[in-house]
Amino acid sequence: MEYEVVIGLEVHTQLSTKSKIFCGCSARFGANPNENTCPVCLGMPGSLPLLNSEVVNRAIKAGLATNCTIASKTKFDRKNYFYPDLPKGYQISQYDMPIAINGRIDIHVNGVKKSIGVTRIHMEEDAGKLIHGENLGDQSSSYVDLNRAGVPLLEIVSEPDIRSSEEAKKYLGKIKAILEYLDVSDCNMEEGSLRCDANISLRPVGRKEFGTRTEVKNMNSFRFLKRAIDYEVERQRQILEDGGAIIQETRLYDSDRDMTMSMRSKEEAHDYRYFPEPDLEPLVIDSAWIEKVRASLPELPDAKFERFVEQYDLPEYDAEVLTASRQIADYYETAVKDAKNPKTVSNWVMGEVLRIVKEQNISPEQCAVTPAMLNDMIGLIDTGVISGKIAKTVFEEMAKTGADPKTIVEQKGLVQITDTSFIEEEVGKVISANPEQVAQYKAGKTKLIGYFVGQVMRATKGKASPESVNRILRQKLDQ
Ligand code: ADP
Ligand code: MG
Ligand code: ZN
Repeated sequence: MEYEVVIGLEVHTQLSTKSKIFCGCSARFGANPNENTCPVCLGMPGSLPLLNSEVVNRAIKAGLATNCTIASKTKFDRKNYFYPDLPKGYQISQYDMPIAINGRIDIHVNGVKKSIGVTRIHMEEDAGKLIHGENLGDQSSSYVDLNRAGVPLLEIVSEPDIRSSEEAKKYLGKIKAILEYLDVSDCNMEEGSLRCDANISLRPVGRKEFGTRTEVKNMNSFRFLKRAIDYEVERQRQILEDGGAIIQETRLYDSDRDMTMSMRSKEEAHDYRYFPEPDLEPLVIDSAWIEKVRASLPELPDAKFERFVEQYDLPEYDAEVLTASRQIADYYETAVKDAKNPKTVSNWVMGEVLRIVKEQNISPEQCAVTPAMLNDMIGLIDTGVISGKIAKTVFEEMAKTGADPKTIVEQKGLVQITDTSFIEEEVGKVISANPEQVAQYKAGKTKLIGYFVGQVMRATKGKASPESVNRILRQKLDQ
C-alpha cells in the first residue's frame, strides 16, 4: 500500500519584547534564577495581569506578514493544567478568538511554489523552567526558575497541508525568516525562542479522510524536526502495514537515540477546561491600528526574493539562499553595490561567506570579511587588479586578519600582472619548452590552449592576468 504523509506544525516563538506580556518584568534571557519576577508572573493570588501593547503590535505584524485576517475583537482564555513551573495553575492563552486567522505561507520545493495554510496565530504566556537536581549534583531536589514565566509567545498553527519532512523544514525556515525580517523575535533555536510541535499522520494515497495523528513535541532544530518526522513516518507505516492502528498520542523525540517515544495520551481541548480570562477585557483592534502596523512592515522574504531575481538577474536558487535571512540579504546588497556581475558576488556570498558563518557559528554581521571589504575585493577583480584566482587567497587572508583587500594585495605582492612584455616573455618560454604540444595544437588539437594557459599561470604563480595570457598565447600559436 502507498501512503501519503500529512503534517501540520504548531510553531512557538518567543517575542523579543523588553518586558513580559502581563507585567513589567524584564523578558531578557540569561538573568539569575527568579531575578525577573513579580507578584503577577509568580502567580500570587490577587495580582492582576495588564496586557503589554507591544505584544499585540508584534502579533499583528506576524499576522499580516503571513497573509492572515486580523481579528477586530480578540480575547484571552485560561488553559488549566498543573505543572510546578506554572504557579497559577493555568496559562493565559487564546482559545476561540485568536488574534489572526486564515493565513498562508509560501514555500519553494524543488523549484515549485507551494502554499501552506496558516490556521491561526495566538498570543500566550510562556511557563517557567524546571531544573532537575541531578544536573546540579543533587538527586533529591528539583528547582524552579520563573524568569521565563510570562514571557510573550506567539503560536502559529498550520493547516495539515505539509506532505514531507523536507516541506516541514522549508515551512519552518520561512516562518523563521519572516519573524527575523519583522524583528519580532530573535528566533534563537538553541535558546528555545523558536520551537515546534509536529502533528503527523499517514493515509492511503487517494483517500480523502485523514488518518489518526501523533504529535511530536518541542523540537528546536531543523535537523531534529526532519529526523523526528522521518522516524515517526516510518514507525506509523510499519504499524499500518502490519494491520495495526495508530494511537493518538503525544510523543517526544530523543535526539540521542534518534527515535520518538510515547509521552502521554493526547489531551483534548476539554481537558484544559478553557474559559475566558476574567481579569482581561476582550481587546478591540480597529482598522486604524492595523493599518498603522501594516505601514511599518519591512520588505518581506518573498518580496525580496522576487526583487533579487529581477534586479540582479539571479537564479531562483541564489535568491532563495540569499533572502533566507535578512542579514545575509543585507550583506549581499552591500557587497553587490556597483559590481559588474551580481552573480559573481552571489557566488562569493553563498560560497565563502556562508562557509565562514557556518564554520565559526557566527552571524553574517560578525564575519571578519565585511560586505564593504568583499565589495572592495570584487572591485579589484572587476578593474583587473587581481584575478579571480588570486581573489581566493585575498579572501582567506581577509578572513584570517581582517585587513582590507588593497593592503593585502600590496603587502603580499598579489597584484595581477598585465605587463604585456613580461607575459609575452613567459609565453615564449612555455612555447619553446613544449614543442610536442605546440605541434599537436597546430595540427588541430586546439583544446591544448588550456594546458598552455596552465603552464604560464604556474610560471607566474597565478599572478598573470588570465585574459592577457589567453590572448597572447593565441596570437603566438596561431601565427
Ligand atoms: P491540538 O491543539 O489538539 O494540538 P489542533 O486542532 O489545534 O489540535 O491541531 C494541531 C495541528 O495538527 C494543526 O497544525 C493541524 O493542521 C494538525 N492536524 C490536524 N489533524 C491532523 C492529521 N490528521 N494529521 C496531521 N496533522 C493534523
Ligand atoms: Mg497541539
Ligand atoms: Zn512579573
